[in-house]
Amino acid sequence: MNYTKSKELFEKAKGLIPGGVNSPVRAFSSVKMDPPFIKKGEGAYIYDEDGNKYIDFVGSWGPLILGHCHPEVVKALKEVVEMGTSFGAPTEIETKMAELMVEAIPSLEMVRMVNSGTEATMTALRLARGYTGRSKIVKFNGNYHGHSDSLLIKAGSGLLTHGVPNSPGVPEDVVKNTIIARFNDIEEIEEIFKAQGRDIAAVIVEPVAGNMGVVPMDGEFAHRLREITEEHGSLLVMDEVMTGFRVAFEGAQKLYDITPDLTCYSKIIGGGLPVGAFGGKKEIMEKMSPIGPVYQAGTLSGNPLAMTAGYTTLKILRDNPDIYTELSKKAEMLEDGLKQQVQELGIQASFNRVSSMLCMFFTDQEVVDFETATTADTEKYAIFFREMLSRGIYLAPSQFEATFINAAMTEEDIKATLEASYEALKAVKQVQ
Ligand SMILES: *Cc1c(COP(=O)(O)O)cnc(C)c1O
Repeated sequence: MNYTKSKELFEKAKGLIPGGVNSPVRAFSSVKMDPPFIKKGEGAYIYDEDGNKYIDFVGSWGPLILGHCHPEVVKALKEVVEMGTSFGAPTEIETKMAELMVEAIPSLEMVRMVNSGTEATMTALRLARGYTGRSKIVKFNGNYHGHSDSLLIKAGSGLLTHGVPNSPGVPEDVVKNTIIARFNDIEEIEEIFKAQGRDIAAVIVEPVAGNMGVVPMDGEFAHRLREITEEHGSLLVMDEVMTGFRVAFEGAQKLYDITPDLTCYSKIIGGGLPVGAFGGKKEIMEKMSPIGPVYQAGTLSGNPLAMTAGYTTLKILRDNPDIYTELSKKAEMLEDGLKQQVQELGIQASFNRVSSMLCMFFTDQEVVDFETATTADTEKYAIFFREMLSRGIYLAPSQFEATFINAAMTEEDIKATLEASYEALKAVKQVQ
């Protein structure tokens, strides 16, 4: 494929934007190549500035479950844009959006709209702290909740529960109230609560972790997490930024049959525009400003464009439950095909999939947490990725991201993807 124009654009961008990108993973560094610049999307496909066409398995990192430019979403956006893009005043669409979400998700009685997933988790935790009057939070290693200071923390090498900042600029003081725990480890979370339970405001968890590949919570672990937080008067905050309206219309909490105290959303609920939200029990949510003491605000929060894209997307999903069956079917077809190919070629790979979120890890281990996820061979992934891209298949440019199926994809698209993957895996095999 020819990338002349993309290369030029990237060179220019690098002089003006750090790394040439507005979010790090877009720079393609972990797959060791320069990124194509995308010009447009249409259904299951995206096109770059050099005219190359790809089947898109990224979907803007999750939001585009309906594919690009769904006609109803585009039509609705065109209508509202002519009436003004933001007022900083209440609009009806915000209530309609809240109503749709509250009716869809049993654990939600009230929601507040923000502008990103980062804002949603950051504020939900502030609310949890304000509500409980406690300061500590528990986060799982390898779970990602956006880039707010107190959540940019990873496991330290010494004491298991003592985390260290994940980035310069995050003071030790800020993360000292964040306890880091091992995902899917019941014993460890029990120990943490035994020792510090009365200080823990909340546990935040990605029910299906989607930022270390795809790693679902173990069912028993999930239920114990709910019990233990309840026993200690701590809140369970589910970060459904990626899984909400993705793994099922009602999200991962439906699949696990768990009622969290607070849930965070973003991605799909914005229909491709910047939106975030958090919600839960009325009693907790009413602690939010202006009726409660916990402060939060946003100039563009709930703006008509974002609300319209999100509302239209959610309405389509609600009214067409078959979409989820179809998504799962296509994802399964892809997973089965890949499994067959790696087996035939003798390549070590392990798979995790929940509905339309899939990950093939280049490892012989079953992936259940951060430690096992990071056994994956990122060199092999880089080769696989580049071979796929050169055949018109756009995967996430990192081993530790999800592959998303969208509703615009056809079985033919999956077949074409499997034809490409067979060749790509042969290339991986050559370096094994
Ligand atoms: C994407 C993501 C976030 C962060 O959302 P942004 O909109 O990028 O700030 C938080 N949590 C999870 C689970 C995510 O996948």
